[in-house]
Amino acid sequence: MSRPLAPSIKEVLLSEPQIRRRVDELAAEISRDYADLNPLLVTVLKGGLYFLADLSRALTIPAAIDVMAISSYTGASPSGVARLLKDLDEEITGRHVLLIEDIIDTGLTAAYLLRVLRTRSPTGLAICTLLDKTARRIVHTLPIRYRGFEIPDVFVVGYGLDYRQRYRTLPYIGVLSEEPEAALPAGRSARAKESP
Ligand code: 5GP
Repeated sequence: MSRPLAPSIKEVLLSEPQIRRRVDELAAEISRDYADLNPLLVTVLKGGLYFLADLSRALTIPAAIDVMAISSYTGASPSGVARLLKDLDEEITGRHVLLIEDIIDTGLTAAYLLRVLRTRSPTGLAICTLLDKTARRIVHTLPIRYRGFEIPDVFVVGYGLDYRQRYRTLPYIGVLSEEPEAALPAGRSARAKESP
């Protein structure tokens, strides 16, 4: 059953059934590739929670989950510098880690996370992102092994993604009627914020 669009959403980019189908496909691929490897699925609060919850439940293999929190980088020139606010609970040395991302835009956040995780010598480290916004990519060397959807350069919300903490709980991914300033380069909204 469809429900009315939330105010300020001008368009549904990815519907609930589309997301569900693609998440199931990704889970099938991951279950095949990671059979017997007992992967640790790691996501970043809060945006990745919904994807992690659905993806992990669709796996047909044993897996563990863990979460991190980081501060956003702010300011006019994104340096990729972020700060760890909550570390993993699990040790990852010698483990197969899959970083579960809601969206990769410039790639700076994922690059930072990979740098942090690599220092702990996991046996494997790869990325599964639901959304890939390639138009603004700065870091081109990310090990993106699984990609849900490539999307255009629009600011999207829903299914975990927020604009100023709103719209996360929408079951679909939509485009805001007005491009928020946060969508401009260096603007970040979905991560925990800290003052410079
Ligand atoms: P990156 O470091 O790859 O440029 O940015 C990744 C982060 O920026 C995402 O995890 C998310 O917090 C935010 N972001 C980038 N594009 C969007 C978007 O279209 N919508 C929302 N809500 N957040 C976005």
